[in-house]
Amino acid sequence: MHPINISSLKKAYGNICALRGIDLQIPEGKIYGLIGPNGSGKTTLIKSIVGAIKPSSGSISVCGMDPQKDKWEIRKLIGYMPQSSSLFESLNTRDNITFFGKAYNLENLNKKVDEIIEFTELKKRENDPIYTFSGGMKKRVSLACALIHKPKLLLLDEPTAAVDPHLRRRSWELFRELASSGTTLLISTHLMDEALLCDNITILNKGKVILTDTPDEVLKKGKSRLVINTNEEKIEDFILSKPDTLASKLHEFGLTKNITSIKIEQDTLEDIVLSEIKKNES
Ligand code: ATP
Repeated sequence: MHPINISSLKKAYGNICALRGIDLQIPEGKIYGLIGPNGSGKTTLIKSIVGAIKPSSGSISVCGMDPQKDKWEIRKLIGYMPQSSSLFESLNTRDNITFFGKAYNLENLNKKVDEIIEFTELKKRENDPIYTFSGGMKKRVSLACALIHKPKLLLLDEPTAAVDPHLRRRSWELFRELASSGTTLLISTHLMDEALLCDNITILNKGKVILTDTPDEVLKKGKSRLVINTNEEKIEDFILSKPDTLASKLHEFGLTKNITSIKIEQDTLEDIVLSEIKKNES
């Protein structure tokens, strides 16, 4: 059984349909990247999984439990990092993490706080109050708080928004380390280079999953463009990413002296996501 099993999940806020029938299974030890335009339902989906909001219909099973009925049991298994900081600004790093640890009634809490501070590389700032931190460093403390009870499932809502490239890289190394040790992660992001680091990319649009697959398979949906510049003109043509289709296109144009450059441009993940969304809406 997968740690997360979602079927026909719907959520309406009054007359706004935020989720319109989501089916999604997330296997153990995998990182799923949730991408989609603003308002596509990513936060609503994550909040439904952690039990913070009640779905209108459909079912969610988290490690075999129902997030609404088994709220307290499930919270022991889940680490959740919301989009906006839920830290105590006047407390320091250590006290914030300790607060969350106490909420879970953890034994040997001091030792566990030491370990998590080490793991998230927060040692140098452990005694500084949160109001002195940058946005990116606050995200890191939030992550430490979400990890203190060693959750089996980690739900992260844009964990690296406003985080600098060094911290982002370190965060993704941490996510991969956690997945290797069996933790299952669902991460929402607007950053396409991060989506490519996931085991699976799930694209949401208007409250529906329009595509879920491995990054390689999603990239295969992209087109390649052959761009030939001559002295007089620029010729663009779509080709399949196969050597024989490239060769036949080149035969078509011939290699004449007035060709100044030949380039092959591959659709990026962003191009593919935008075209899938357009296809879904047409
Ligand atoms: P973003 O990328 O901007 O964070 P998102 O994909 O996380 O967006 P949600 O925050 O889940 O999207 O919002 C989905 C839809 O539900 C939007 O139309 C939003 O306006 C609406 N919505 C979300 N929360 C509420 C609420 N508490 N009350 C009413 N409408 C809401």
